[in-house]
Amino acid sequence: MEEYIQISKLNDFVFCPKSMYLKSIFESFDTKTYHSEYQTRGKLAHENIELKKYTTAKKSVLQGIEVYSQKYNLVGKIDLYFKDKKELVERKYKINKIYDGQKFQLYAQYFCLLEEGYEVERLSIYSLSDNKKYKIDLPNEYEIKKFEKLIEKIKSINIESQNFKVNKNKCDKCIYNTLC
Ligand code: SF4
Repeated sequence: MEEYIQISKLNDFVFCPKSMYLKSIFESFDTKTYHSEYQTRGKLAHENIELKKYTTAKKSVLQGIEVYSQKYNLVGKIDLYFKDKKELVERKYKINKIYDGQKFQLYAQYFCLLEEGYEVERLSIYSLSDNKKYKIDLPNEYEIKKFEKLIEKIKSINIESQNFKVNKNKCDKCIYNTLC
């Protein structure tokens, strides 16, 4: 059986395929050994988000539920889905710019929800530290093709035989730069 692709790893793969591979290896270790300050802050924010359940509107908000897509072989969790607004929201600690990887991650959650029969009409990414919400358009044909290409690439890549071009800008910010 084909292995599922974790939605949370799509962003890593877009950043650098090797970082997705390294994350898979090190995720079972104590994250303090390699997490940068920024990564730790983002992770803590996410843990706090997970603890802070939506108690006021429990029935109209789905939070942290597991989703999967048979079509794309994806598995993961959504952050928030507001049933009344048909809106899917992903909260992050701080957003300065929306990167493709973040969009693809949201698309993945969107496709999973659609496959499970939910209606989704709005997508957004919410930056907690400055209280900003970024609306993301629903994927059009072009974006869907890009997304599908990404999934195919993840399925077919052989990390060990890849000859990675080092992008110093990325490596400097990468939490794995001491291990890579
Ligand atoms: S250090 Fe550079 S090559 Fe290694 S995983 Fe990070 S971004 Fe990729």
